[in-house]
Amino acid sequence: MSTDYLEVRGLRAAYGNIQVLHGIDFTVSKGQIAVILGANGAGKTTTLRALCAMVTVEGSIRLAGEELAGQRTADIVRRGVAHVPQGRGTFPELSVEENLLAGGFVRTDGQVRADIERFYGTFPVLGERRSQAAGSLSGGEQQMLAIARALMLRPSLLLLDEPSLGLAPMVTRALFDQLSIINAEMGTTMLVVEQNAGLALGVADQAYVLESGEVALSGPAHELAADDNVRRAYLGY
Ligand code: ATP
Repeated sequence: MSTDYLEVRGLRAAYGNIQVLHGIDFTVSKGQIAVILGANGAGKTTTLRALCAMVTVEGSIRLAGEELAGQRTADIVRRGVAHVPQGRGTFPELSVEENLLAGGFVRTDGQVRADIERFYGTFPVLGERRSQAAGSLSGGEQQMLAIARALMLRPSLLLLDEPSLGLAPMVTRALFDQLSIINAEMGTTMLVVEQNAGLALGVADQAYVLESGEVALSGPAHELAADDNVRRAYLGY
């Protein structure tokens, strides 16, 4: 039996008559971090949107053996998939704490308060600003809040779209360190889309490079990071 938690086969996606994904295959093992790299317009964001039924898809998307393709976004969320879209993911008028409470709204396990305190520990600035409107946080703080809010769902699969977008290098590094810690402590499987290949490969187990809607390259993240030809040809660093 395969240990693949997310198994995507022949995934195609289109906006109207513009085909963006041309039948991609990838897998993410349970408890691992996979990263999708690639140039602008390669189809990375569309891949995450396809997993959440936010774009019309063909092909198979199996999560823990169950087919997600054809299900509605709300049902996919109920299966434990949380999506942090690019540069968004918070309610700007609500306070930091209200955002976290909203993230845990569907939970009935009585651990919501404990998880909020946990994320104040992970991201201390969120604790300090718990009463402040999310929209008035800095970009980096909002990104931390968006991730913490998604984690309040206690997802089994976290989809992150360019968490480093607009962040200073030091903040980005700290954020990736926290993702690594959360992955280790909570066992959350993660699929991360990133432009910052060097950093993402440092925390990921598996990597996929998308090129014009196809998987151009894949392998263990440390192997891709160590291959000079790959780095020059695909990763630009
Ligand atoms: P980036 O790194 O720039 O965010 P990406 O790899 O995430 O790029 P996508 O956002 O998935 O790329 O876009 C892939 C292609 O699909 C692009 O050519 C884009 O113009 C097109 N596209 C994306 N969203 C739409 C849409 N709503 N309608 C039409 N075309 C779209």
